[in-house]
Amino acid sequence: MSEMRFDGKVAIVTGAGGGLGKAYASLLAERGAKVLVNDLGGDFIGNGANGGYAARAAEEIRAEGGEAEANGESVGTAQGAAAIVEDAMVRWGRIDILVNNAGIVSGSGPIATITDAQWTNDLAVSAGGTFWLCRAVWESMKAQDYGRIVNVASGSWFGMGSGVPYPAAKGAIWAMTRALASASQANGWNIKVNAIMPIAGSRMTALMGEPINGLMQRDFPPRAVAPVVAMLAHAEAPSNGEMFSVGGGGYARVFAGVSQGYRGTDKDWSPEDAIAHFDEAFTTERFSVPASSMDEAELYTSEVPWDVFRQFVA
Ligand code: NAD
Repeated sequence: MSEMRFDGKVAIVTGAGGGLGKAYASLLAERGAKVLVNDLGGDFIGNGANGGYAARAAEEIRAEGGEAEANGESVGTAQGAAAIVEDAMVRWGRIDILVNNAGIVSGSGPIATITDAQWTNDLAVSAGGTFWLCRAVWESMKAQDYGRIVNVASGSWFGMGSGVPYPAAKGAIWAMTRALASASQANGWNIKVNAIMPIAGSRMTALMGEPINGLMQRDFPPRAVAPVVAMLAHAEAPSNGEMFSVGGGGYARVFAGVSQGYRGTDKDWSPEDAIAHFDEAFTTERFSVPASSMDEAELYTSEVPWDVFRQFVA
């Protein structure tokens, strides 16, 4: 296959001052994209700001021959997100690629200890940032009939005992990815929206000390996630509305499936009937992966014409 390049393409990578975002920005720039390196430059909890963080990363990318400019706005407000998009538009006149990578872990610990501010901040930066950036680029991507969006979720939404806001925000990102991809697909737009759940050594693993940080940096360096992000950001992106776990040189599809289940039709059934069919409902021996909410509804035994619903919720 010919080299996957991004010549002439404009990319925004949020949270790209270091870590994973910097690796994504570097690879896209190395392969010809003009990259807006956004980063607020705070710590991983979300405190502080330092515009020098994005500036240094952009400088390093330029030193290696790439085209990159820095942006220090926050993704955590609608105004900040709009200013990031405006910055790229003013510089380069279009946006082809958006990588929503910026994220914080503001509130970890038992739910009773999570403050309102921690909950709000996690949702604002991760889920809010993804929503506001997608909203700000969407109309221009529609108008040019081209766009590639890569959202960054996290394996934490599978379950994580040490926190609630972060996985909640990351779960929202997965749902947002599905919603936008469905809208694009239903309308025949050439906009693809996918998500990844990365695994990499990070500022957080650095705080965990040795040996874990060294092992994470060795086995899961940020650069090993970047090829899948680039693939999904490319014109030839092979999927829309999908999520992949990525790390260490490999990747795998992550999907939400529904078991074949117990598809009874007795409207007057009882809790005892429900528990009697629990094994049938629970087993994943046979399952399907619905492409949309209507595909999921159709798994029930019913004569409801779900196609009528599709025009409202496609
Ligand atoms: P990181 O803390 O180095 O990167 C996050 C970046 O986002 C930082 O540079 C930070 O300054 C920036 N940022 C934070 N708030 C911002 C805001 N309001 N506006 C703009 N930029 C902001 O951590 P990382 O490990 O490189 O993580 C990158 C992304 O990957 C995050 O979304 C994270 O949740 C996700 N993730 C990472 C891992 C992992 O194993 N490292 C696992 C799952 C998910």
